[in-house]
Amino acid sequence: MTDLLTGTETVAQERRLVTELPGPRSRELAARRSAAVTSAVGSTLPVYVERAAGGVIVDVDGNSLIDLGSGIAVTNVGHAQPEVVAAIQAQAASFLHTCFMVGPYEGYVAVAEELDRLTPGDHEKRSALFNTGAEAVENAVKVARVATGRSAVVVFDHAYHGRTNLTMALTAKNMPYKHGFGPFAGEVYRVPMSYPFRDEPGLTGEQAAERAFSMIETQIGAQNVAAVLIEPIQGEGGFVVPAPGFLPALAEWCRRSGAVFIADEVQTGFCRTGAWFASEHEQVVPDLITTAKGIAAGMPLAGLTGRAELMDAVHTGGLGGTYGGNPVSCAAALASIRVMREQDLAGAARAIEATMLPRLHALAERTGVIGDVRGRGAMLAVEVVKPGTTEPDAALTAAVNKACHAEGVITLTAGTFGNVLRFLPPLVIGQELLLEGLDVLDAAFDAHVAR
Ligand SMILES: *Cc1c(COP(=O)(O)O)cnc(C)c1O
Repeated sequence: MTDLLTGTETVAQERRLVTELPGPRSRELAARRSAAVTSAVGSTLPVYVERAAGGVIVDVDGNSLIDLGSGIAVTNVGHAQPEVVAAIQAQAASFLHTCFMVGPYEGYVAVAEELDRLTPGDHEKRSALFNTGAEAVENAVKVARVATGRSAVVVFDHAYHGRTNLTMALTAKNMPYKHGFGPFAGEVYRVPMSYPFRDEPGLTGEQAAERAFSMIETQIGAQNVAAVLIEPIQGEGGFVVPAPGFLPALAEWCRRSGAVFIADEVQTGFCRTGAWFASEHEQVVPDLITTAKGIAAGMPLAGLTGRAELMDAVHTGGLGGTYGGNPVSCAAALASIRVMREQDLAGAARAIEATMLPRLHALAERTGVIGDVRGRGAMLAVEVVKPGTTEPDAALTAAVNKACHAEGVITLTAGTFGNVLRFLPPLVIGQELLLEGLDVLDAAFDAHVAR
């Protein structure tokens, strides 16, 4: 079937396996790949993709898989969303690139206007656009250092902020992100996260924040802190949702101390958690906010948005890059944002939560190997442990994950201990498709949990 608006092939919203996974064509590509692509780059799935639409990915052997990963929280509006595809095609036909630092264009300005409007807080804001989440985070640190004249950056246990040199330093986990890649950038200090499942029982968000402040004040000195950088819900770290009160306390400490509060919303942004941005769940207003992933439905784009006086503290020409805010990416972002608004995808994320949470709790109850069910909106996870303990079970997590893939459901893992299964469905996924994905997940646990 061909979509009249865009000329793209549409894809039936169903799971359908016509070969074993991986099929013969995928196996052929895997062989070519291992002779051409470095083994340093890994892939989750054993199959190669031919096309995708909505919540379904079709592989080169004609198998249709249910996508509960969205290319890591990127295709929030669904794969090949027709209005986004049309916007990309129209912009590609007009011009592909001038470099905004050479020949500026409206799309960049319009995305900045949307970011300034949509991000938390009604203060005066300014934005800059980049290509990747890591780049947005690096630039947030640059802005905070210039604006404060200070150098220390505070980050948290289990944090993930990217793979460039500075963001490796900001990221917590050694394997695979940092191992052997040092020396890392300096003036980065790590403090304890609020992690309700692994903290002492009953520790409040405020108490967890006090634990971090006492470390900051004794080991760094509040007056040396340029920025406190945190994911409002941690992504790669395992969808850790801090205890209520933790994020507001951090924001307040920054205000008191003259430090910049940076929310890294690269994974949580753009309706993923049931609000435009996860900071909103606790009415936190970050000084700077980084965005990427879900912003442009799969085109590379990232944003840094914040208080005008901070963003404008940098000398003219101090921020930029050849491709930052590419016109095609901007067109994709503007169309994606329009779709999110018109289709109320924040509401759709809350509906996904309402469908999934009871199922995940029932799964935990039934199997006894899930210590924690957590997340918000369409950013949900289960933490897999040895029964009756908090001891991580990474082997079972990997086995269940693989079993889901073999049955045509794309799930992802996460977590410092590799024992978190995370779910990031496109926000437009159909209810039946979602329920079928959960049935496959149930069966995968049942097949691997000793009874
Ligand atoms: C993915 C991610 C990044 C890095 O984004 P890239 O586009 O891969 O550079 C940074 N922060 C968070 C919270 C992320 O999830």
